[in-house]
Amino acid sequence: MNETDVVIIGAGHNGLTCAAYLAHAGLRVKVVERRKVVGGAAVTEEFHPGFRNSVAAYTVSLLNPKVISDLNLAEHGLKIVERRAQNFLPALDGSHLLTGEGRTRASVARLSPHDADAIEDFSRELETIADVLRALVLRAPPNLVEGFGPGAIRETFNALGTANVLRRLSLEQQRSLLDLFTRSAGEMLDERFEADLVKALFGFDAIVGNYASPYAAGSAYVMLHHAFGEVNGRKGVWGHAVGGMGAITQAMAGAARARGVEIETGAGVREVIVERDRVAGVVLDNGAIVRAKYVVSSVNPKLLYTRLVPAQALPTEFLARIRTWRNGSGTFRMNVALGALPSFTALPGTGDHLTAGIIIAPSLPYMDRAWQDARALGWSREPVVELLIPSTLDDTLAPAGRHVASLFCQHVAPQLPDGKSWDDHRDEVADLMIATVDKYAPGFAASVLGRQILSPLDLEREFGLLGGDIFHGALTLNQLFSARPMLGHADYRGPLKNLYHCGSGAHPGGGVTGAPGHNAAHVILRDHRALFG
Ligand SMILES: Cc1cc2nc3c(=O)[nH]c(=O)nc-3n(C[C@H](O)[C@H](O)[C@H](O)COP(=O)(O)OP(=O)(O)OC[C@H]3O[C@@H](n4cnc5c(N)ncnc54)[C@H](O)[C@@H]3O)c2cc1C
Repeated sequence: MNETDVVIIGAGHNGLTCAAYLAHAGLRVKVVERRKVVGGAAVTEEFHPGFRNSVAAYTVSLLNPKVISDLNLAEHGLKIVERRAQNFLPALDGSHLLTGEGRTRASVARLSPHDADAIEDFSRELETIADVLRALVLRAPPNLVEGFGPGAIRETFNALGTANVLRRLSLEQQRSLLDLFTRSAGEMLDERFEADLVKALFGFDAIVGNYASPYAAGSAYVMLHHAFGEVNGRKGVWGHAVGGMGAITQAMAGAARARGVEIETGAGVREVIVERDRVAGVVLDNGAIVRAKYVVSSVNPKLLYTRLVPAQALPTEFLARIRTWRNGSGTFRMNVALGALPSFTALPGTGDHLTAGIIIAPSLPYMDRAWQDARALGWSREPVVELLIPSTLDDTLAPAGRHVASLFCQHVAPQLPDGKSWDDHRDEVADLMIATVDKYAPGFAASVLGRQILSPLDLEREFGLLGGDIFHGALTLNQLFSARPMLGHADYRGPLKNLYHCGSGAHPGGGVTGAPGHNAAHVILRDHRALFG
């Protein structure tokens, strides 16, 4: 039997972040991870002899600069480089859009002079709002509490603090914020832009990890969620962690260990121990017991409460509600080993565009059809694929002259219709994804030397991402902010004493941010100091 102050379930990047902060404050912390490696959805693995790539998450921007600096991630080996171009959207008619510093305006103007002005206005609008929301990312959202007591007073102050942050927005900007939280990205983009590729640039962000049409209400928020990020101080930019996303979590694990955290891999949690109304530790799959004052979970909240915490220990209404937690982001992920770089008909040859996120989804109606198809058939006949070739920025991933690419494909059904299983359709859909890229870059399929495929079912089995949900729960209004994971529990505290949430199922949600881990650690330390001084 082990005994410690804190046991953290899961060594994803949030579990590791939380562990590092808690240990830094002097608590004894043990992290137990079901997989053989740390990192959760942010890992790098060899998937074909000599070829390594980020297995799931594949690109960095949302990782919070405070977390990077507090954990000294650079000293622990993390280096993030910028893409030389941000996004490349080819179309079958031979046109394309290429964005990035010093390129966006001219490229948009070639498609639509009107949109060249409009994109600057819209980017400014998004940026102003993202800037204010960034200030809310590293604080617990106002939490609803019943009755009047110290908790109510604390939350009143928290709500005032939050309101104060929002007051930085003018009235007109607050109206835009309301639009972004509630409206569809499609409607907002149709109002502002003419060119399909320009709309598709923003529309893609609205459907990443969001199994919905870009015309679904609320999809504008997902677009905003993807605008929070920055790389090396440059806002709204996406970059690459040298060595793949695993370099982030390896650096975090290094930082955590340097502060005294014990990390045990191959140690899945079978059950959370509950004694009367408080948690007291965990039982591992091998029967070992780890007793702890605090249990902190970084796994999907539905997984925690429907599989790990005994049902009889939970308030009935809480359990009923968490069972309705919506998972299922409709994503299909592949890695391919490439003998040669692709050449796109819309912009042939090599160049900076091959360092960009290459989005194959040339219009909002294309994305909408992909969603309609997936609803009816299980996947789309013309799927949405983002291709990223990190080996154009990082020569540690593939043998010289060869490359690796991530394919992040949106709009496959989390569960296939008519009782079909992903196990029987994985390869067929992988072939379709490759054929889709091949349409825009003939010869791509022939250059594939090896591949790794993760259907939604594989993501669930491998990483514990229920329904393959990349965010640990949809980013819909009823599952955001004070309602993540449930009204009354947005303060990282679970419904049992000494149980906390530090994963993406807590505010501010999914993505490799480190924010839920950071915020949870601060709440735990406050509670600990209140009890023990
Ligand atoms: C395919 C895909 C692509 C993505 N792309 C990006 C991207 O490019 N950029 C970005 O910022 N974000 C991306 N995301 C989202 C991002 O990766 C996740 O939101 C984030 O990594 C989740 O981190 P976490 O620490 O909250 O949880 P996780 O990384 O899910 O970590 C939870 C950990 O708990 C472990 N675990 C589960 N059950 C148990 C148990 N019973 N006992 C012990 N351990 C357990 C898991 O193995 C896992 O290691 C992507 C996600 C996926 C899946």
